[in-house]
Amino acid sequence: MMLIDGKRTAADIRAALKSRAEAFERISGRRAGLAVLLIGDDPASEVYVRNKERACEEVGIASYSYRLPGDTGEKEAESLISRLAKEEKVDGILVQLPLPSHLDEKKLLALIPPEKDVDGFTAENMGRLARHEGGTAACTPRGVMELLSRYDVPIRGKHAVVVGRSNIVGRPMALLLLNADATVTVCHSKTEDLKEICRSADILIAAVGRPRLITADMVKEGAAVIDVGVNRVDGKLVGDVDFEGVKESAAYLTPVPGGVGPMTIAMLLTSVIEAAERKMP
Ligand code: NDP
Repeated sequence: MMLIDGKRTAADIRAALKSRAEAFERISGRRAGLAVLLIGDDPASEVYVRNKERACEEVGIASYSYRLPGDTGEKEAESLISRLAKEEKVDGILVQLPLPSHLDEKKLLALIPPEKDVDGFTAENMGRLARHEGGTAACTPRGVMELLSRYDVPIRGKHAVVVGRSNIVGRPMALLLLNADATVTVCHSKTEDLKEICRSADILIAAVGRPRLITADMVKEGAAVIDVGVNRVDGKLVGDVDFEGVKESAAYLTPVPGGVGPMTIAMLLTSVIEAAERKMP
């Protein structure tokens, strides 16, 4: 079994981005910039935002953080995003989700211009992805595609099964695989016969959020198994895949932690650099 090392791959990507960020700064006279908007005081979101700021710093991207209180009104949030949409030094805008419940996520995301939507969450970018017309894809599924590609996992013509259909992982994941010529099946909580469908996968992507949902008897001999899930069990991080059982039959497998997780931020940074480079003369 080939263990897919997301931590090392993400470090390689960040190192390459550093040179691209330097080249952008040399040519444009400013650093590529990411604006991060965090509303409320969700502790997990605070950790994610801090990690993103640190990662930006490391590769030479300027990060502009806006931390607003949990009772921020819709108008105020809207006017901030609209301002960032016009600001030249801001190449990417990221609204940290989840938002406080009184704010309309769809309405706020719609204010992000597609070219600054580095998370790929806007309807415009999802639509382009669905139509196979370019656009920025969400960072986590993009990270999975990058891992498959760097580890030479064959995709074209293969059966890819994606378990999970959320807008941030499962759905864009399925579209990216389809665009790469896989034959794609998407499973979710209403799927009948999950086990049999998973067993027919050449590439199995678990993006559910249920510890050890995918067991050895659900995995075909020689399959590539990518575990997106992050679950905390007894203070330890575990994925959606029963790693110990599945490693006997899988040909490729990602660990949790150290698999898909580190790739998400690496792909976010990639999207910011790409957005900045698109503006270069
Ligand atoms: P959501 O809760 O939004 O979606 C979960 C999906 O799993 C839904 O489509 C749901 O189906 C489906 N599902 C739930 N139970 C089952 C079941 N028993 N069998 C089959 N499908 C099921 O989660 P996210 O997509 O946001 O995240 C998924 C996992 O990935 C989480 O563990 C999350 O922490 C992790 N994650 C990791 C990231 C990383 O960087 N490594 C980034 C983002 C997420 P239905 O649609 O029918 O409800």
